[in-house]
Amino acid sequence: MRFSDIIGQDDVKRRLARTVDEGRVSHAQMFTGAAGSGTLSLALAYIQYLNCPNRTPGIPQKSEGTSEITYGDSCGVCPSCQKIAALQHPDLHFVMPVNKEGKKSGEAITSDLFLPQWRKLTAETGGYFDEAMWYGALDLEKLQGLISKKEADEVIRKLSFKSFEGGFKAVVIWLPEKMNGEAANTLLKILEEPWERTLFVLVSAQPRMLLPTIISRVQEVAVPGIDPEAIETYFAARKVDPAKARLAARLSRGDMLQAQKIVNDENSDETGEDFELFVELMRLSYNDKHLELLKWAERAAALGRERQKRMLENFVRLTRSSFMINAGLEDIAYLWGAEMEFCRKFSPFIANHNVENIVAEIESAGGQLRRNGSAAIVFTHFALAVSKQIIKR
Ligand SMILES: [Zn+2]
Repeated sequence: MRFSDIIGQDDVKRRLARTVDEGRVSHAQMFTGAAGSGTLSLALAYIQYLNCPNRTPGIPQKSEGTSEITYGDSCGVCPSCQKIAALQHPDLHFVMPVNKEGKKSGEAITSDLFLPQWRKLTAETGGYFDEAMWYGALDLEKLQGLISKKEADEVIRKLSFKSFEGGFKAVVIWLPEKMNGEAANTLLKILEEPWERTLFVLVSAQPRMLLPTIISRVQEVAVPGIDPEAIETYFAARKVDPAKARLAARLSRGDMLQAQKIVNDENSDETGEDFELFVELMRLSYNDKHLELLKWAERAAALGRERQKRMLENFVRLTRSSFMINAGLEDIAYLWGAEMEFCRKFSPFIANHNVENIVAEIESAGGQLRRNGSAAIVFTHFALAVSKQIIKR
């Protein structure tokens, strides 16, 4: 991955390249920010730049009125670049939260077992993926991933070998907040004393969940949200309708994963049907149509379980957005097109007195579905409970 492959973030790229150009490479760094801001991609591009023998250094000063690229970049074609881009470099190691459904007790599960999935997902997404997408790639449904003590031991073992290719050895720890206590303590010991020409790159989405002792031993590279203009340009180059691209750029708060969702969602039949069900539920509730609410519940109960959970998530979004419009915060409402039109009209009915109750009902229905409650009972109760909150007074 080259810096130029990454969406926006020119300031971060410039800063990172400059530290390498000036020979100021800190041995333990932590890239922090939302997964959709490009933290992992930036970390990979940084390591590639550091190891590239043919890199182009950054141009120190941006000259007035030019759009010249001022950050340095790796060549992208030398053997080192190619191996790092393919995540196949012998001096580049990865640690990420992993797990396996149906693992035997005492079975050691470490990141290396899942490198094929890791490479595939990184290649497919350019490094823009979050924890849930990773667990999807691992086929984890009930289990979460974690980073074990065994994994930390493995890192020490690997680092005790000499560098294969004479450059920096690098360990990328993705989501270090998923380390258990033992793993964190082992890692701490490594971070305390720098190893020669060894680089630790932590990539964290929730740095506040880390031990303060770890945070104090790494240099933070804070990655902000992506500039909306860069997101818009990215979509424009991919022939996304300009109005939609602008909306995604504005609503996503600099998070590519959110932006992607917005762009894809508008075309999805499923979201359209969720919206229709929401409108119907609110209309029937407002008019207190009991029998029809029961029919509505039957229709919702007939959908698949996963589908029902996503529908409830959409309901939360629509409810909260209506409330924001009511509160005069239309600009940050997460809506577009027909949804925006409906929620604008509907917003007077979602206010302080009921917004949290409605959201609580939606979340409670979701909880019961997750615990395998009968969908017919869950949605019947849900429809009547929501109607009590909306009912015409
Ligand atoms: Zn290169």
